[in-house]
Amino acid sequence: MDASGRDGETPIAVVLPSPLSEVHDDRVQSHGIRLYLKRDDLIHQEIPGNKWRKLKYNLAAAKDQGHSRLLTFGGAYSNHLRAVAAAGHYFGFETIGVVRGEEHQPLNDSLTYAVGQGMRLTYLDRATYRRKSEPDVLAALTERFGSCYVVPEGGGNGPGVRGCAELPSEVDVDFDVIVCACGTGSTLAGIAAGLGGTARALGFAVLKGGRFLDEEVRRLQREAFDRVTENWAVDYEFPFGGYAKRTPELDAFITDFQARHGIMLDWVYEAKMMYGLLDRIASGAFAPGTAIVAVLS
Ligand SMILES: *Cc1c(COP(=O)(O)O)cnc(C)c1O
Repeated sequence: MDASGRDGETPIAVVLPSPLSEVHDDRVQSHGIRLYLKRDDLIHQEIPGNKWRKLKYNLAAAKDQGHSRLLTFGGAYSNHLRAVAAAGHYFGFETIGVVRGEEHQPLNDSLTYAVGQGMRLTYLDRATYRRKSEPDVLAALTERFGSCYVVPEGGGNGPGVRGCAELPSEVDVDFDVIVCACGTGSTLAGIAAGLGGTARALGFAVLKGGRFLDEEVRRLQREAFDRVTENWAVDYEFPFGGYAKRTPELDAFITDFQARHGIMLDWVYEAKMMYGLLDRIASGAFAPGTAIVAVLS
């Protein structure tokens, strides 16, 4: 660290390893379970958690390959788009954000923030967006914006998964299970690949419908490490209606968790994971004595 509080390798100050804290909650201890929170949400305010872990090696690759421009994809409320916009600002890349669906004016807070960080936005209709990784769609984008380093939606590629694989080795207590929320599944793919011993990873899907995540996690592990691990599973029971949907029950859970622990859970991801985890603990899914690490991104 130099006097500005920044380490020599990055132009931003990131809090790593992220803090680990034990949770005291009667719903957990009454089942003989120990629960720790891995506070990845505290890594950096604008590039938090798995977003930093997934971008770290992508930024290095973009630089190594001589790119000055990043192009990426996301929905209008995407945390990933915001994070890429911020990363571009701090690391000196131009950024292009390809947004799913039509433009809506005025821009929402996420997109306003992204534009404020210098991101140029463009929009793809939903049918074209679904084909965003196909060569003709990518060619049309680079034709328009010039050559770019392309970061897939959610940072889900080999460098992104390798960044997430560094998380488990930061945990300095013994644990049996590590849990995280799953959007694209890249965080789960990395965490599972980075686990040692007999520990297992469990992801809670926040999207509804289809078991596409199992295949996606395997594909991401192959891309990152040329191998697939068998030490993980996805729980599909707690999407609360689907991505970015919420219910009064989920809202009440968030309010109660904040009152108990002073932590406001992100409702798109982490609240669904924590609700699911406590529900599984309540129904006896984990043997007494199990130590669980829950990742807050
Ligand atoms: C992006 C994000 C996730 C999902 O991560 P994936 O690697 O896409 O599964 C989880 N939690 C938070 C807070 C996020 O911003």
